[in-house]
Amino acid sequence: MKNPPPSLDPQTRRRNAELAIAARRERSKIKSALKEGSLSMREIFDSSSAAAQRMRVIELLTSLPQMGPLRAESLMEKVGISRTRRIAGLGVRQRRELLTLVERNIPSKMLSTLGAMSSAFYGRLFVISGPGGVGKSTITQEVARFEDFFLSISVTTRPPRDGEQDGVHYHFVTRAEFEARIANNEFMEWAEFAGNLYGTLEEDVQRHRLAGKHVLLEIELQGARQVKEVHPEAVLVFISPPSWEELEGRIRGRGSDSDERIRERLAIAQEEMAAAKEFDHVLVNSEVAQVVSRLVALATS
Ligand code: 5GP
Repeated sequence: MKNPPPSLDPQTRRRNAELAIAARRERSKIKSALKEGSLSMREIFDSSSAAAQRMRVIELLTSLPQMGPLRAESLMEKVGISRTRRIAGLGVRQRRELLTLVERNIPSKMLSTLGAMSSAFYGRLFVISGPGGVGKSTITQEVARFEDFFLSISVTTRPPRDGEQDGVHYHFVTRAEFEARIANNEFMEWAEFAGNLYGTLEEDVQRHRLAGKHVLLEIELQGARQVKEVHPEAVLVFISPPSWEELEGRIRGRGSDSDERIRERLAIAQEEMAAAKEFDHVLVNSEVAQVVSRLVALATS
């Protein structure tokens, strides 16, 4: 026989009722934030709020966007969590496994709205483009030195140049290998540039974003357009030279190119310059350090 409930004095009873109302209010705030994506499951796990910790796991899961009760229950079953378990009662392994399952299972529709979500956990996607010779790679390499950023490593059929390493500067592959990856739907975007194929690996980018890194893609124009189509949340940044004359000087000054090649490069650059208006931001590369800090600011704004 259970003990009878303790009889409480009216003051304590009133106080308890007030606390219960406040907790319910707090819980409903948490649920709305989860629903609209401004709060992530990981943040709830790490939160010290009593209301968050007392929430049932099933309530938390079904508050996530695009998570129905059936999927929530099947995830809990996979990890061995009972239906009545509260967040505070989860073990370390259960938390880790649940996070992995939920984050991996994010449907593609939701991944494309990541930009609108809190960047506390999901990194943003930046596409850096601009005419050849404008200094994009110097800029992206500088930004990638910051711990929160990851510079995507593209796949290409172009042979490595002196000093370039496979898996560091590019993944160098044959045309047949590249085509097999296209058929396998591995690319977020791909394009042909100066006779070679270049592509960005979707899975690789999303894995880094899910790990909280802002991912930089340094790619040419056709690729940038494709990314915006499949990931409208991507931030497109155009790096522009201070003037056309300055860019022309840089292209001519490269030395190793023939007149014919220089003419070709100038024509491509002119076409690329005309596309600046399609981008979300245009940054003029007068000084590398300044462009780098503006890019970093874009990620944290
Ligand atoms: P490069 O051969 O000089 O390394 O690169 C040639 C051009 O290809 C550059 O404009 C570079 O930004 C672009 N590029 C590099 N990787 C990719 C990629 O994955 N996709 C696309 N579309 N362009 C890329």
